[in-house]
Amino acid sequence: MRLLNRYRETITDGPGLRYSLYLAGCAHRCPGCHNSASWNPRGGVELNELVLSDIIREIKDNPLLDGITISGGDPFFSPHELTLLLKRLKQEVQLPILVYTGYTLEVLESVEKLREPLPYIDILIDGPYVASLNDPTLLFRGSTNQRLINLKERYARHNDL
Ligand code: SF4
Repeated sequence: MRLLNRYRETITDGPGLRYSLYLAGCAHRCPGCHNSASWNPRGGVELNELVLSDIIREIKDNPLLDGITISGGDPFFSPHELTLLLKRLKQEVQLPILVYTGYTLEVLESVEKLREPLPYIDILIDGPYVASLNDPTLLFRGSTNQRLINLKERYARHNDL
């Protein structure tokens, strides 16, 4: 898994003040994608233990943070690695995690390997960007087909990990 970017404090990637990670790799190729450079899974730097430990330290050191956001690319491009990352973050920091994906929840739930990360996500913003449905007034989303879904309630019995 490779990391394209990290934003230590942002208010545009979900509710409140958030620490955002942008992961490399996306297969959706949405026309009008604002960040086609993120499609390349070999972009950025390796998200190894050294980098991850530094990220966790930065998150722990900032008491003002309201949550963590994982975006891309599409974090579900590498679903098992995403699961390991989510589990680690859940173990280390008690902050809600929001994940963006170009897949719909229905697709994620219907494919075994894509289902794996879901119990560790609090909020999912799903669906591809559709340029014809663009709405700049939407909160944290680009087009009206994208949904903000509370997965914490949906997978409540797994979420106290
Ligand atoms: S899912 Fe996101 S990153 Fe991937 S092509 Fe669509 S808009 Fe771009």
